[in-house]
Amino acid sequence: MVDCEVCTRTFVDCHAARQHMDAIGHWGCDTCTAEYWSKAASIQHMNAKCHWAPRFECEACNADFATQQEARRHMDQLNHWRTHWCSDCKKGFQNENNLRMHLNSNIHRGSNISCPFCRRAFATATGVTHHLETASCPNARNLNREAILAEIRRRDPNHLITTKLLTYPISSDSIEATEHCWNGDFYECYLCHREFRSLGALNQHVNSPVHKQRVYHCPSRGCSKEFVALAGLFNHLESESCGAVKFDVVQRNVGGFLSGNRLIAFG
Ligand SMILES: [Zn+2]
Ligand SMILES: [Zn+2]
Ligand SMILES: [Zn+2]
Ligand SMILES: [Zn+2]
Ligand SMILES: [Zn+2]
Ligand SMILES: [Zn+2]
Ligand SMILES: [Zn+2]
Repeated sequence: MVDCEVCTRTFVDCHAARQHMDAIGHWGCDTCTAEYWSKAASIQHMNAKCHWAPRFECEACNADFATQQEARRHMDQLNHWRTHWCSDCKKGFQNENNLRMHLNSNIHRGSNISCPFCRRAFATATGVTHHLETASCPNARNLNREAILAEIRRRDPNHLITTKLLTYPISSDSIEATEHCWNGDFYECYLCHREFRSLGALNQHVNSPVHKQRVYHCPSRGCSKEFVALAGLFNHLESESCGAVKFDVVQRNVGGFLSGNRLIAFG
């Protein structure tokens, strides 16, 4: 025979006693078998005996979970890991080891790419390409996004990374030109060097279809991502999000893409 832990009734087995307690609405302890008439009493018991079931808290938000797996899934999904945090990538990791692996990965291995014209060092192919596409290189003032595109097109007859269409899909991302574009006399487009009398006119120009055509695409057949700039394509590839080309292969090839004369290929 089993007694109800709260009232005086007796039952044939544990199962029946349990059923009774559930039906009556006795408040149970998370950890032991004690039951109470009121929620307040059960809370008092759990406080006194430290009998609260363990809760697994999210490192970022107020959510907590009954199991570690649930908490882990939540933090994975929402990037809510905070204890092991990479501030460069704005990404959290489950433990020290995963963070260390990330920091030792290609993404953080350091500045091993240099500009083929001014030798300035960059950590990524995206960085050096952006440097040239925005006409920021002191030794290659005539290079900009349009000039690079014309050159890449010439060496990409099979359209590995350039789009074939004569009318290109237009990107909806807006570009913003700033006061930095003032060259002393005019507001100068950093993409094609055309000059404008006002910042408003320049902004209209950079956001016109001239500069918003998606002229590059990911070389993977399965991936349909298209890009306005070569730096955007490299950024996509270096993130290895679609797995088309490995990070170090991008890094090895960027020099040849930006200068030199060989056909566009990831070798
Ligand atoms: Zn009872
Ligand atoms: Zn208890
Ligand atoms: Zn959270
Ligand atoms: Zn990182
Ligand atoms: Zn340079
Ligand atoms: Zn322009
Ligand atoms: Zn892709």
